[in-house]
Amino acid sequence: MARFLAFLTLLEVTTLSAQQTTQPVYDRVITGGRVMDPASGLDAVRNIGIQGGRIAVITTDPVTGKDTVDARGLVVAPGFIDLHAHGQTPETYRFESLDGVTTSLELELGTANVAAWYRERSAGERINYGVSIGHIKVRMAVMHDSGLVMPVGDGAYRAATPAQIDEIARRIETGLNEGAVDIGAGFPYTPAATHEELLAVFRVAGKTKTPVHVHIRPSIAGLQEALALAGETGAPLHVVHINSAALRDTPVMLAMIGDARAQGRDVTTEAYPYAAGMTEIKSATIQDVYRSAPDSQLAEIEWPPTGERLNRESFARYTRIGGPIVVHTNTEPMVAAAITSPLTIIASDAYWQNGTGHPRTTGTFAKVLGRYVREAHSLSLMDAIRKMTLMPAQRLEHQVSAMRRKGRIEVGVDADITIFDADRVIDRSTYREPSLAPVGIQQVIVNGVSVVAGGQAVEGVAPGQPVRGTIHE
Ligand SMILES: [Zn+2]
Repeated sequence: MARFLAFLTLLEVTTLSAQQTTQPVYDRVITGGRVMDPASGLDAVRNIGIQGGRIAVITTDPVTGKDTVDARGLVVAPGFIDLHAHGQTPETYRFESLDGVTTSLELELGTANVAAWYRERSAGERINYGVSIGHIKVRMAVMHDSGLVMPVGDGAYRAATPAQIDEIARRIETGLNEGAVDIGAGFPYTPAATHEELLAVFRVAGKTKTPVHVHIRPSIAGLQEALALAGETGAPLHVVHINSAALRDTPVMLAMIGDARAQGRDVTTEAYPYAAGMTEIKSATIQDVYRSAPDSQLAEIEWPPTGERLNRESFARYTRIGGPIVVHTNTEPMVAAAITSPLTIIASDAYWQNGTGHPRTTGTFAKVLGRYVREAHSLSLMDAIRKMTLMPAQRLEHQVSAMRRKGRIEVGVDADITIFDADRVIDRSTYREPSLAPVGIQQVIVNGVSVVAGGQAVEGVAPGQPVRGTIHE
């Protein structure tokens, strides 16, 4: 016994002297990178130590880790947070991680069953994930719509009874209680939803101060409608993909959002850097616009498997088959106006189904960094990073405490870090070949664990954590 005590004492003395004379050894260190943090404005070469999945030190001193990421010549930024990503499958999480995304959120369509949605992912994912309680999905359930992804029957085209409206509002509240990040809606996908019904949804948002992420009806009137609903109920409003909702009215609609913010209203928006959109051919938003359109307008639609532009005959034929279509409705100058506006968050609207999808799924963030920052000089690197990290975190941090620890490089935050080569970063995907990973996104670290290393996906890792909301009454 005495000998054992003496041994313990010796051990304590040894440990103590080691602490006094040596540097701490972190789980991982990132050395020599140009650290860019939009929250503090830091833009300088620093070493970072990671411990227990969080950033433990940011310093000019040498640091020691069990593992070292050499970031010399590279930008070390907070991991990108994508507020608008459909799919939410291992396949899309992998695509997004290769584009620098560390947190992927499905906040527009959302889900009708929040508890089940998180349960399905509880075994672990590559990147952090979260979902909204979605008006579209809840309406599909309450109205017994047979659509797989979006409403195609009563969920789109039948007015709800007062009892059904109550049920929709009740299920949205339940979703928030189950930890939904916020509320999603898409008015063009639910054209039969009356003002009363939308007001019922926004009342839940206003009461709980939860943002509603709305795919508005196209045009200025569509934005006015969403602003009015938010104004009447006190709900925070996030307008998704302003580029595809506003088209040629992009500057006007951005100014309207700027005016609302100047009046102190909680209104935000987002954009993705592509002039064509993608959605399901059977959805109401397509059928309502193109069902009786002339061939000249139908030619805006591309059928991805063949690249052909549609006409009356092929539109009817492919509508019977169903599937995603590319819709060429915008111009590059309008997209540039949206991407470079200080108001917009970068969000991909990632869209991928049955092995195909929109190139924004794989290239949104690299495209902004390569084409708008490096090639066109229309956005500073720090501003681009802010739009991908701090701004989406701030949009959600009132409801989602996890977001106060994301979107920043500072001591104590989650070690979600994207390391890229600002001189080389570029997207590669096209409408015909949408699955190509970008170039120049070198290391993507989620909660301290690399999911991309050397520009390649790391297999067999699942450090992603659920991101959940908490209601503030
Ligand atoms: Zn979307």
